[in-house]
Amino acid sequence: MAELILVLDEGTTSTRAMLFDPSGRCLGARSADLTRQYPEPGRVEHDAAEIWEKTVACGRAVVDAAGGTDRIAAIGIANQRETVIFWDRETGEPLAPAIGWQDRRTAAYCRKLRESGEESAVQARTGLLLDPYFSGSKIAWAMDNLAEVAEAGDRLAIGTVESWLVWKLTGGLHVTDATNASRTLMMGLGSGSWDDGLTAMFRAPRAALPEIVDSAGNFGTTTVFGGEIPICGLAGDQQAATIGQACLEKGDSKGTFGTGAFLLANAGTTPPKSRKRLLATVAWQLGGKRTYAIEGSIFVAGSLIQWLRDSVGLIGDAAATEELARSVKDNGGVYLVPALSGIGAPWWEPEARAAISGLSFSTGRAHIVRAALEAMAHQTVDLKTAFAADGADWARLKVDGGMVANDWLTQDLSNMLGIPVERPQFAETTALGAAMLAGVGCGWFEDLHAAAAMRGATDMFEPAMGKQARQRRLDGWHHAVESVIGAAH
Ligand code: ADP
Repeated sequence: MAELILVLDEGTTSTRAMLFDPSGRCLGARSADLTRQYPEPGRVEHDAAEIWEKTVACGRAVVDAAGGTDRIAAIGIANQRETVIFWDRETGEPLAPAIGWQDRRTAAYCRKLRESGEESAVQARTGLLLDPYFSGSKIAWAMDNLAEVAEAGDRLAIGTVESWLVWKLTGGLHVTDATNASRTLMMGLGSGSWDDGLTAMFRAPRAALPEIVDSAGNFGTTTVFGGEIPICGLAGDQQAATIGQACLEKGDSKGTFGTGAFLLANAGTTPPKSRKRLLATVAWQLGGKRTYAIEGSIFVAGSLIQWLRDSVGLIGDAAATEELARSVKDNGGVYLVPALSGIGAPWWEPEARAAISGLSFSTGRAHIVRAALEAMAHQTVDLKTAFAADGADWARLKVDGGMVANDWLTQDLSNMLGIPVERPQFAETTALGAAMLAGVGCGWFEDLHAAAAMRGATDMFEPAMGKQARQRRLDGWHHAVESVIGAAH
């Protein structure tokens, strides 16, 4: 009997394949690191062929270890969002390097559009802002600058990562799910279809774009892993994590602290409108009906720790940050504003650059590391304030991602936010969310509420910090962040 779901979790730093049973137990996992290229400052590229090859290799390894495709009921995919892939429909090969979500090459182009007054109409239609982060301007750049894309004509296919994988898995089905489509700047948030004005603005040929589909269903089958397996769940990674954290009721919120950090609050079934420069996005679409979320993105989270390790050499590994942070009684007046590739919500200043302030002769390595970890809570508090002003304050935050393995950081989040922070013992909530969707899509579960039985036990972190200490930290942070924003103008 087919009693397992195969999840393909396409992150920024790695691709993973995992197997889940209906109780949410993970019965096998394989992962492979993904290469990113930085051909110029501000540019971040992936090789789409590598994403595909490593996905297949990881998928095959877990399926074979489990005894073959007969045991697999369905596939669920969760993926890094906004990253755009251009491929040739005839050869099935990429036409150009994939442009990553962190890529800032279109900062000037987006600024020009903003300055010409386009942003409020775009926000009203898509829920998004004119920032290089989203796929639209990346597509416009490719159409303007890459002859192999611009001249591909009828052979051109454009899609985000899940779209590329479904194409490759099925041998030519071109779909995207509504959560991923809602990140392109080209989908009408209320309509769930491509917006002609916006596809024209970003010069995306309609025939090259995928069909927008639900997040769960039967989208096609693949034989890449052996026998036939249906693909039944698709979602952008943050939406998948929102589902995996069972944020199924309006007001439920989660924060994923991986390479970047992404805070999402379930906003119900009416498209939300942010007045605080947060994003409105699709949380999931089932039976053609969309549930929405408000989202705040922090571009630099775990990548700050990677940078401290790889480029600065301040730490040997990410886990060492916890002991270092604990080794000093406070940050010693040091603040780190991690705007290494601009700064996201609620400031949206792509040209801001990072700063470490408050250094003195008494500053040691541990203070800088502590300031780096503290920056996560500082940025999250600013987002909570923005969510609250948009009428979507958090009463409790569910957290996941590689960074919250750090107990000190998770406690600091609770202390600074002043609310309980809930961390699942099984940390792979993104993969779990994709499994839940696939479980609904293949008929294991009637709906997401039933699928939430897959979610396991959690640990709670309660706030334990005085008001004054919290305020002192926030004052220091705001002073630091304002000088970074000021310098960018
Ligand atoms: P993604 O899914 O975006 O690839 P993950 O959720 O796997 O990322 O998280 C990896 C990130 O978490 C890395 O950037 C790493 O620096 C950071 N990280 C891992 N362990 C720790 C830790 N103990 N403390 C702080 N950061 C950590």
